[in-house]
Amino acid sequence: MKISFDLDETLFVNPAEVPIEPELKFPYNMIYKDKLRKGAVELLKEINSSDTELWIYTTSNRSVKYIRNIFKHYGIRIDSIVNAERHEKEAARGRAGFPSKCPSVYRIDLHVDDEKSVYENGIANGFRVYRITNDDAEWTDNIRRELERIKRNYNK
Ligand SMILES: [Mg+2]
Repeated sequence: MKISFDLDETLFVNPAEVPIEPELKFPYNMIYKDKLRKGAVELLKEINSSDTELWIYTTSNRSVKYIRNIFKHYGIRIDSIVNAERHEKEAARGRAGFPSKCPSVYRIDLHVDDEKSVYENGIANGFRVYRITNDDAEWTDNIRRELERIKRNYNK
């Protein structure tokens, strides 16, 4: 199975609005300024040690190297990264009106995102989206449950 996470407002959050993980130690906190949503480290490590692939799917232009490394400093392995450039090259391919994200192109079973439009595109285009909000205190348990549910359906 594969799960993907959006970055902005999903895993990377504004600390004024959402509880966050402890910052990286100096000097890494100077290099990697994004703040991780509280609960991310435990959940993503758990996914790492399961048979589910951990993907990042973002429309931001952060480099693959930056994304891979910030998570590495938290002890998390990212299996694959779709950024704006890769999405355009492999998924959208210049087609007008193509969804901003299309996890089904990569056979991703569950995508986690804060954007309503991504959630709606999921319904319209047949990919599964867990929509996260700033006040979603149960997000890690909800996603664990969702993964279990998908896994059970696989085995039917
Ligand atoms: Mg977002």
